Amino acid sequence: RVAYVNGQYVPHSHAAVHVEDRGYQFSDGVYEVCEVWRGQIVDMTAHLDRLDRSLSELQIASPMSRAALVQVMKEVISLNRVKNGLIYMQVSRGVAPRDHYFPPAGTLPSVVMTAKSVPAGKMDKVAEQGVGVITVEENRWDRVDIKTVGLLPNVLAKQKAKEAGAREAWFVDKNGLITEGGSTNAWIILKNGTLVTRPATHGILKGITRAGVLKLAEMKGFSVEERGFSLEEAKSAQEAFLTSASGLVMPVVKINETILGDGRPGPIVQDLRKSFHEASELIKLE
Ligand code: PLP
Repeated sequence: RVAYVNGQYVPHSHAAVHVEDRGYQFSDGVYEVCEVWRGQIVDMTAHLDRLDRSLSELQIASPMSRAALVQVMKEVISLNRVKNGLIYMQVSRGVAPRDHYFPPAGTLPSVVMTAKSVPAGKMDKVAEQGVGVITVEENRWDRVDIKTVGLLPNVLAKQKAKEAGAREAWFVDKNGLITEGGSTNAWIILKNGTLVTRPATHGILKGITRAGVLKLAEMKGFSVEERGFSLEEAKSAQEAFLTSASGLVMPVVKINETILGDGRPGPIVQDLRKSFHEASELIKLE
């Protein structure tokens, strides 16, 4: 495997950043994960737009032109022979002697990128069974709309889920409403077929897959309510699911100890999963 690190393509096993990289010392950086599907980058423009927004919210300089970034994406995919898989890219505020204040103007942001293959059908197998979620108290900062590498609460929540035999943890805010998962957006489907997901304010990451499902739902004529929902409402929902670039539309069949419906992925979520890419921008790799 090969990774991109600050202008160079290096063996993945040797790919490293400096010990005084601010991403490493302060989580002072942002990232994106994009899906590669059948040799195409899914929703690339939306991911790069969100990267620009995350950088600008943190006043980190744009590390390179978009055309150059796209070139690196294509190179990393091709060098790793990825047909189906994921691209990871991270931009930090750069390397400077440790000091909380921003480093001197002219400090170059660090950029790293990797790509890995995920066997086609691997996530489909998970989706066939559906997954469980647990709920945890929302304990993240109030700007989780910025996709920063500061993911410690997410790491702890997801580990707790894993230890409980679940796949995801849903954060519950102080009003008793679910915000999102540790690495996914959260959705429920009511008995009348309406899709419900929390509005994209500062309290959740505005998922690209979430936007894709909103578009798909509109194409299919499903009604959607963008509003908060409680654990109680979720437990009595007909279906539920998670969205993310790595898992796409992932059916939820269990919330804490409550089994949803008959404990199997329902028809609406299966339909959304099957037709997800119909609503995506697909950029071919030459
Ligand atoms: N919410 C959080 C906290 C995430 O980390 C992610 C993805 O990593 C998502 C939601 C889903 O976003 P996307 O659909 O853009 O992958």
